[in-house]
Amino acid sequence: MTDKIENPTDFADLLENNRHYADNFHMAGFDGIARSGVAIVTCMDSRIDPLGLVGLEPGDAKIFRNPGGRITVQALEALVLSTYLLNVNRILVVPHTKCAMGKNTENELRATIGELAGKDASWMSFSVVDDQEQKLREDLRKIRSHPLIPDSTLVGGFIYDVDTGLLREVS
Ligand SMILES: [Zn+2]
Repeated sequence: MTDKIENPTDFADLLENNRHYADNFHMAGFDGIARSGVAIVTCMDSRIDPLGLVGLEPGDAKIFRNPGGRITVQALEALVLSTYLLNVNRILVVPHTKCAMGKNTENELRATIGELAGKDASWMSFSVVDDQEQKLREDLRKIRSHPLIPDSTLVGGFIYDVDTGLLREVS
């Protein structure tokens, strides 16, 4: 693990890491499909390793992340593209325990961000989650009822436990 650098002034540490990464690079020419046929929609939370938690590697799956792991317009766009152009036939939607999007109301987030920014944040939308299982079921319905997602595509919802590393299916 690299040491966290406090207040870096440029990207030098990351570019140095990148040169090491490129030394062992083995994906040249790969066409970018999801080799395992899997797409995962999950939260941006840094505790989540979307590929690792289901035993996959780069090249295996399409990953779409946003705050909360929600099925937004852009998530649906990604899933339709993934299904038709990128070999996807199984979709996992994976929100997680202890998600920041479930801890605050939208107005609380606006107030906090506004305070930290020293500017008005009341106009900004935050897709907070009040009832995680209910929201997940709504999100699964959005995918299953989408006219361009084939009935043959498997769609599953799972809550990832950030303390145990386990997925729990929500049906
Ligand atoms: Zn989260």
